[in-house]
This record gives sequence, C-alpha cells and structure tokens, in this order.
Amino acid sequence: MSRVSAFKLFVCCENCLKESVRRIDVPDHPDAPADIDELMESSLLQRQRFVCQQCESAIGTITGAGVVYDDEEEEADQEELEPIYF
Ligand SMILES: [Zn+2]
Repeated sequence: MSRVSAFKLFVCCENCLKESVRRIDVPDHPDAPADIDELMESSLLQRQRFVCQQCESAIGTITGAGVVYDDEEEEADQEELEPIYF
C-alpha cells in the first residue's frame, strides 16, 4: 500500500471567497494520518493556520481535501467535505 506523503486542502476564504489549495506534508511517523478522516482528527490539522493571500483574512473554510501518495504524481482526487472553519 502506498504511503500518504501529503494532503491537499481546498480552502475558501470567508472574506473574499477566493479558493486556494494548501499542501500539508505528512511526517513519516506511525501515528501520521493515513486518510482524510484521520487527518481531520489529527493535531496536524489543528496546527494549521489560514491566512488568505488575497485579503489576509484569517478565517477560511475547508471545502475539500485530497490525498497525495508517495509514488503518485500530485493529482489527488478532491473529496467534498462539510465546511470546517480554521
Ligand atoms: Zn480572502
């Protein structure tokens, strides 16, 4: 099974509604999240801070997430998520 090397988060700014993609690299660790559900519950996500590059708003909504595997190119499928606020 491929190891998850990173997650991609699709984040929508609450202020200017601009979407951006954020990459979260996953440490090589036994407790590292292996799928999106685990990522959502992990401290990795809680440590993220969102700042919009357009308007510098600090409130963003996660609208989707994708998984990037070690042995794959970066194209991850986007999974729709319930909105999560940073
Ligand atoms: Zn913004």
